[in-house]
Amino acid sequence: MLNKSTLYVVATPIGNLNDISLRALDVLAKVDVVAAEHTQISGHLFAAHTISTKLISLHQHNETIVSSKILALLNSGKNVALVTDAGTPAISDPGAILVQRVREHGYSIIPIPGANAAICALSASGITNPHFLFYGFLPTKTGLRKRTLIELKPQLYTLIFYEAPHRILECITDMIEVFGPQRELTIARELTKLFETIHRGTLKEAYSWLQEDTNQQKGEFVLLLSGAETTDKSEISEHAEHTLKCLLIELPLKQAVKLTTEITGENKNSLYQLALKLKNAPCSE
Ligand code: SAM
Repeated sequence: MLNKSTLYVVATPIGNLNDISLRALDVLAKVDVVAAEHTQISGHLFAAHTISTKLISLHQHNETIVSSKILALLNSGKNVALVTDAGTPAISDPGAILVQRVREHGYSIIPIPGANAAICALSASGITNPHFLFYGFLPTKTGLRKRTLIELKPQLYTLIFYEAPHRILECITDMIEVFGPQRELTIARELTKLFETIHRGTLKEAYSWLQEDTNQQKGEFVLLLSGAETTDKSEISEHAEHTLKCLLIELPLKQAVKLTTEITGENKNSLYQLALKLKNAPCSE
């Protein structure tokens, strides 16, 4: 028996259709309506598990309108489940607006946990840092993407990104420019599917590996970038080092470090350590 007037937020597989919990299948079979990002994609899942519950469409372009319809269903005592094409709803996926509105109206919301591409990738990466920052999709334009990466650069946590196949090479190119070629990158591709691949190496190695085999550029990707090591000079980009060198010619050390931090967004402590080493080195250009 399910609770009345409840929204169930149900995680579905990220590839392998068997990666769904017994509880999720039970809920999907018993609710009155399932709101799905693409009814056709969820239809395949339902067919594989002989579920015949009514599907309605809820995606990023109609979420606000459909949320009102779902509130009306909840108001009439119906139960509704929310699913997306893959993984956990509202994680780089539609759903957060609906959940927010349902919460505002005081109906109960029950999460049914399951697959998530970021956590799946992290669990098999071998990264020992216990802390991570899930970013999701980076901006698609290279200028904004680089600025975002510069902001993230000082983070000590593993950085987790989702990326589309047609942007994978340009994204790694930007990462090399901002983080330097030696930062470690784990590429988790096509998780739980036929061509599942997990590759771990430096950014430079990752780029060569992808470039050498165009098959590896296809499918769905999670990128896990190792966190910064604060005192490591190699974590400072060439751009920041150059800026610092130039400013050190004209300004006292503290002021040069402060300005370089503001200009580049890089770690102040690392820049300070580098400034101490560079104090007497002139700008070469
Ligand atoms: N809600 C999903 C979750 O919980 O992971 C994420 C949905 S987001 C729109 C889709 C992105 O997740 C893909 O572009 C890819 O970056 C990542 N992704 C989803 N399935 C994946 C898989 N099987 N292998 C690798 N990455 C995957």
